[in-house]
Amino acid sequence: MTYRGFIFDLDGTIYRGERLIPGADRAVAELRRRGLRVVFVTNKPLSSRAEYAAKLTRLGIPTPVEDVISSSFVMARYLHEQEPGTRVYCIGEAPLIEELRQMGIQVVDDPRQARFLVVGFDRTFDYQKLTGAMLAIRAGARFVATNPDRTCPVEDGEIPDCAGMVGAVTGVTGAVPEAVVGKPSPYMVAAALDRLGCPPSQVGIAGDRLETDIAMGAAAGMRTFFVLTGGDRLEQLADDRLPKPDHVVQSVAEIPDLLD
Ligand SMILES: [Mg+2]
Repeated sequence: MTYRGFIFDLDGTIYRGERLIPGADRAVAELRRRGLRVVFVTNKPLSSRAEYAAKLTRLGIPTPVEDVISSSFVMARYLHEQEPGTRVYCIGEAPLIEELRQMGIQVVDDPRQARFLVVGFDRTFDYQKLTGAMLAIRAGARFVATNPDRTCPVEDGEIPDCAGMVGAVTGVTGAVPEAVVGKPSPYMVAAALDRLGCPPSQVGIAGDRLETDIAMGAAAGMRTFFVLTGGDRLEQLADDRLPKPDHVVQSVAEIPDLLD
C-alpha cells in the first residue's frame, strides 16, 4: 500500500516521561523525508498543544503545534461544530479551558448558564465542581467528556484519569456523556485525518495501547502498528476482546523498514 500519512501516539510510543524512545526521532524524520504527513495524538489534556509540540521539538522531533491533536483540541472542535461560541461549564485544568477559549467557546462560572457540561482529567476536582456539574445537568446541559481513560501512567505508578470525574458526575446525576471525544473515538480520527489530508486507507498508526490506539486505527481502516515500548505487553495479543494489530514492533524505530 502507499502511505501518505502517519499517526503516532505520544506517551509510551514516542517518549516515556522525558525520555525519547531510542530511534523515534530518526523514524519520524525518515517518514517525513519520504513525503508522509505526520501527526501526533494524545488523550492527555494536562498540557497545551504548544507544550507537546515544544517537548517533541526539544527531544529532536521538530513539530509545529498544528501537528499535535489532543483530546482538548478535539473537544473544542466538537463543541464548535455543535454550536459555535457556545457556553460551557468545565471540569478540567487550565490547558483544556484555554483550548476551548481559543475556539471561541465561553467557559462560564454559573453552571445554570451552560449549554454543555465538559468533563476532563482534573487533578483539582472537588465537591464544588461536582455540585456545579450536577446543577448544569439539572438545567439541561449536554454532557461531554474528553477521554475514556481510567488511569494515567506517571513516573511511580498511576493516577486517576478522566473516567473518575465522569463516574462521579454519572453517580450523582445518572447522566452519561453523549460523546467522549479522545481516542478511540471517530472525532479524534476526523481531527487527525483533516490535518493529514488523506483517506484512512493511506494512513498508518502506531501506539502502545490496543484498546485505544490500535482499536481506533483498525475501526477507521488504517494500517496499525503495535509498539512494545509502552503500557501493553505482547501477551495481551492473546486476549480476544482486544483488536489485533497489523504489525507488532519492538519500537517505532522499526516502522520505516515496514512501509516499503
Ligand atoms: Mg500511549
